[in-house]
Amino acid sequence: MDSFKRRLLTEPKGNQKLEKTQKLTGVAVYSLSLAPASSSGVANLCKWASEACIAHCVGAEHNGLSQPFASIFRARIAKTEWLVNQPTEFRSRLVRELELASRRHARLGEKVAFRLNCFSDLPWIQDPLVRPTLETLYHQYGAVSYDYTAAPSRYRGWLAERPAWYHMTLSRKEHTPIKLVRDIVNLGGNVAVVFRSPAPRGAVWQGMPVIDGDASDLRYTDRPGTIVALKAKGSARQSDGGFVVDHPWGTSPALRDRSGTVRAIQARREREAYDRRCAARSVWESRSEMLPSTMALLRSM
Ligand code: SF4
Repeated sequence: MDSFKRRLLTEPKGNQKLEKTQKLTGVAVYSLSLAPASSSGVANLCKWASEACIAHCVGAEHNGLSQPFASIFRARIAKTEWLVNQPTEFRSRLVRELELASRRHARLGEKVAFRLNCFSDLPWIQDPLVRPTLETLYHQYGAVSYDYTAAPSRYRGWLAERPAWYHMTLSRKEHTPIKLVRDIVNLGGNVAVVFRSPAPRGAVWQGMPVIDGDASDLRYTDRPGTIVALKAKGSARQSDGGFVVDHPWGTSPALRDRSGTVRAIQARREREAYDRRCAARSVWESRSEMLPSTMALLRSM
């Protein structure tokens, strides 16, 4: 049996960002890393991917850890082939590993979380075998699952339901309309945007509040209604096709507060106004906030 068949989930220490997250927050995030987009040659796991994100994907063969360690990418392909050829066996195995990891960390008094789309964009939240398991593990052990997706339809489904056991962040691509991003943020959703340089504290982009998405990977702890800034990594640093956003952080008038932190006055005002709007309209709690125009836009994509 190939080594990947002994373990589908990657432990936190096998992923640099998730290991950092565990050190920072104490939450052990287990991830499932498959071969992104059509790189396996057997299936397209990222139907909503863009040209630029495929070219610069950190899970691709030419990027990230796969570059120095070819075996890592071979394992991602082997897992993808197993999923495609024996989906029931694969998902049964996945469910067993999710349960084992939850129980193991519960015994140690530790929190656990799952990220099943590390380099894929699959609707695990709709999977008849995986979904009930994730839901049960949340209620039994407090294990939260989270995801990024570029699929407006998947995000629409999640926004309508917003279950406590699963969190989703919309992943902006170069073709994502800014109106969609703005409407999602106004509805209390989160949109991940790749920026050329790190966002300073209190930053705004296109009038929307920005938080640092690189400090921790626990997307389900993000403040609702924010842009999640991710700094371009690997070959994406050289990308110039609109996937990576060049934003002139810090060009707004700035002041220095008592703690010495540089903040943009405009950013602070916009954030405070936004918070007041949220509090007044209870955006996060209300599911009836989905604006007709946003729904129409989501449906048309
Ligand atoms: S959608 Fe995400 S995982 Fe898929 S190719 Fe693009 S960046 Fe990579």
